[in-house]
Amino acid sequence: MKLGKDMKKMTDIIKKARQFVKPFRVTDGDGFRLKDIDPGDTLDLNSEDKPRAKEALAMGVHALAELQDMLYAHDRWGVLLIFQAMDAAGKDGAIKHVMSGINPQGVEVYSFKSPSAEDLDHDYLWRCMKRLPERGRIGIFNRSYYEETLVVRVHPEFLAKQKLPPELVTKDIWKDRFQDIRSFERYLVRNGIAIRKFFLHVSKKEQKRRFLQRVEDPAKNWKFSASDMKERQFWNQYMEGYEDMIRRTATKDAPWFVVPADNKWFTRVVVAAAVIDALASLNLSYPEVGKEKLKELDAVRKELTKKG
Ligand code: ATP
Ligand code: MG
Repeated sequence: MKLGKDMKKMTDIIKKARQFVKPFRVTDGDGFRLKDIDPGDTLDLNSEDKPRAKEALAMGVHALAELQDMLYAHDRWGVLLIFQAMDAAGKDGAIKHVMSGINPQGVEVYSFKSPSAEDLDHDYLWRCMKRLPERGRIGIFNRSYYEETLVVRVHPEFLAKQKLPPELVTKDIWKDRFQDIRSFERYLVRNGIAIRKFFLHVSKKEQKRRFLQRVEDPAKNWKFSASDMKERQFWNQYMEGYEDMIRRTATKDAPWFVVPADNKWFTRVVVAAAVIDALASLNLSYPEVGKEKLKELDAVRKELTKKG
């Protein structure tokens, strides 16, 4: 990758980011167990390191902005970032903080909620395909087609609403969906859409604490919905769903990052580092300007610097 100003600093940040995210990246799901991941993990950092982590995040956000500028100018790759998590795990906050320094023209966030009647009249990838990022852009899916193997698996009534021909709804349906998703992602990567997937792994205990905060703090009341409480009762089924999803869809080209999410400051640093690493791996460069264009620029410079 060709870097502009502050090349040394940038190379250093990229190297650090790459090292830092390694333990959280899953590129091969065989043998993956969610139990092995501690939602409270902060590596060797403790709460006293929080200010340093915040500083690192600020530096990372700055580096990200520069990389994104290059992604936009290069205009070959698109980047798709997928966020999945239980309620109150901090998806919104992570997206907001990590993307805070980025040129809004180059990024689009889309939140996938319950499908509409029109969505249900189509195959389940349809509504997501319409929101894929253009080349040069970052697209963020706040929830995604992975809900088709999570909430839809936990609540069979959602599957019933999907109007599938009954003979296609077999016991293999989840295995089939994972296979189709893997193929879909491979197709995207082969077409120049880089993919990174984030599971923000919050503990049931921390979710309870955050729900209580939402109930008690008037400024947070709006964030709480009764259905969040309902889904909490299905915690174990969701965890099984997430584990299976990661096992079956973590690939080298479209890795999952299982991000400890009990400490928001830590979650954000991991996500920022993973996005920096993703952009830095794309071999980006500013488009080179040809001889003709240089001549033209030279003429313009002369014209502008003429007296009067
Ligand atoms: P927040 O609560 O932080 O605002 P959110 O992502 O939880 O963000 P909600 O509007 O609360 O947003 O929830 C969206 C809901 O839509 C989730 O419960 C999710 O499981 C559900 N959903 C998303 N995709 C599907 C789908 N394909 N089928 C059924 N339900 C879905
Ligand atoms: Mg919600």
